[in-house]
Amino acid sequence: MSHPKINAVRGMNDLLPSSAAVLERFQRLAIDALRSYGYRQIRTPIVEATAVFRRGLGEVTDIVEREMYTFVDALNGDSLTLRPENTAGVVRAAIEHSLLHDGPCRLWYYGPMFRHERPQRGRYREFFQMGAEALGFAGPEIEVEQILLLQRLWKVLELGPVRLQLNTLGQTAERLRHRQDLIAFLQTHRAELDADAQRRVETNPLRILDSKHPGTQACLMRAPRLLDYLEGQSLAHFERVQQLLGQEGVAFEINPRLVRGLDYYNLTVFEWVTDRLGAQGTICGGGRYDGLFELLGGRPTPACGFSIGVERVIELMDGAGAGQGEAACDVYVLHQGAGTYEAALRAAERLRDAGLDVILHADEASLKSQMKKADASGAEFAVIVGVEEAAASTASVKALRPGGEDGPFRRQERVSVEELGQRLVEALCAQDGVRVQEDAPAQAPSEI
Ligand code: ATP
Ligand code: MG
Repeated sequence: MSHPKINAVRGMNDLLPSSAAVLERFQRLAIDALRSYGYRQIRTPIVEATAVFRRGLGEVTDIVEREMYTFVDALNGDSLTLRPENTAGVVRAAIEHSLLHDGPCRLWYYGPMFRHERPQRGRYREFFQMGAEALGFAGPEIEVEQILLLQRLWKVLELGPVRLQLNTLGQTAERLRHRQDLIAFLQTHRAELDADAQRRVETNPLRILDSKHPGTQACLMRAPRLLDYLEGQSLAHFERVQQLLGQEGVAFEINPRLVRGLDYYNLTVFEWVTDRLGAQGTICGGGRYDGLFELLGGRPTPACGFSIGVERVIELMDGAGAGQGEAACDVYVLHQGAGTYEAALRAAERLRDAGLDVILHADEASLKSQMKKADASGAEFAVIVGVEEAAASTASVKALRPGGEDGPFRRQERVSVEELGQRLVEALCAQDGVRVQEDAPAQAPSEI
């Protein structure tokens, strides 16, 4: 009896092998960039106590109000939540393990996040973020450092034009004074606002600035600006950020309506935006969150972080043709005849000892059909083990994509299994020295 097929949960995606090369390239280059600024990896559980997010993110936020996957642990009645973001979890871990005992620290993370949103291009219910948190840093220099890191990353990823938007949310007292005037303004314009915004006028008016509703946005153009309520220290902080960015030649726009979707931010907030992804054009959001440690039961600790939407960045990389044409392997090993599989397996293992990427043909097939597979694999060389080769501990090598007249193994050649690895490494270097070197440090994904 055949069973009905089962599909993935709506809004949750499989990453297929055809996209893996781009993802691995992103991970490798992002980890390199993070390391070069002194960030070290932290991994926290996907599931946290619901309170981590309720307290950390704020009750009147899109995420806490309606996007969280929350469930009761049937075994003990605890309320648990699939993390919708990782900053609150990292801060929870930093407090729990006293990570700041010896001073400030720079941390990065990578992993899946879950939000019950309406799925559409660039907006999923399970999506991946790569992010960084600088914990224990009070000065505006750390925001600038993170922005420089990101600009460097976009460059090596060859993302094309991405714009930096900046704003400052000031401090609590400043936000409170702005809030009174903002509420008064919104109350007189209530009819122009969307339903969500109307509901938030009294509870969380700042969040309305973030609304994607066109009518609400139009109305907000005339609303009192938080920027105009800032006092000396907040202004100085923001000016220092801008001055250092100017010194390093980073272009930015100030967007007075930029607020982050979460409650815990203060002072500097930023987003990187592209026009080439349709409506979901923000590829990274970040900012300072000096109050979060206290909300989660820790000592007051200034901090700043950012988070990259991996699917959106990968889509941009894909569009730019990055990561295309990477060979899946260096060598394809074929076997033909009784008892040759064992010899081919031995040859393949020796080739891997030599550092080569090898695909060993798995089942029995004609030499012709194996050669077709070898060609399609992207391998540079075919290694053929027939009965004669096996008997003499040798293999025949043939270049699959011979370059010039005198390229290595342009004509099929017998090589002893002992020398096989060395000879093929030399042949690959001769063909394209650069590619072998570039391939070498490709272990980053295993660190995630
Ligand atoms: P948006 O305004 O697009 O809803 P957000 O403010 O909720 O974004 P953050 O919480 O700041 O987003 O998350 C950081 C980044 O993660 C976003 O800039 C985006 O690139 C990505 N991201 C957020 N939500 C999703 C999602 N549902 N699917 C895919 N990527 C997402
Ligand atoms: Mg959102």
